[in-house]
Amino acid sequence: MQPLTNMTVLVAEDERSVRMLLRVVLEAAGARVLEADDGIQALRLLELHADVDVLCTDVNMPNLDGPGLVDAARMRRPDLPVVVCSALDLRGHAAPLAGLADAHVQKPFVPSDLVRAISGSYPRPARRDSVAAS
Ligand SMILES: [Mg+2]
Repeated sequence: MQPLTNMTVLVAEDERSVRMLLRVVLEAAGARVLEADDGIQALRLLELHADVDVLCTDVNMPNLDGPGLVDAARMRRPDLPVVVCSALDLRGHAAPLAGLADAHVQKPFVPSDLVRAISGSYPRPARRDSVAAS
């Protein structure tokens, strides 16, 4: 069985070529993919599709960026697993976002790393606020 079979992944990414690559990789692993080109559209899709299992989001996007999207998404779906896919190194800085995400995939990403991060984020582990804040 493919690692992401029966999973619906909402992808929020403003760069079309990256978004297409994410779709291809995730679909090849068995996932159903919904695409948004900014955070606002991603929130709209999240409200329309209660079956979204994982949010995979970029950090820098127009209208509503990754951190804003994650905040808003968590208000609606507190347990929604979030995987951040960004060229930023979230381990060194950007601690608030690193704390919000269940996993981080560094761009440019290796397909197997992305699939592993998505499958590992679901079901979402218990909140690690205390760890993330330290
Ligand atoms: Mg971007």
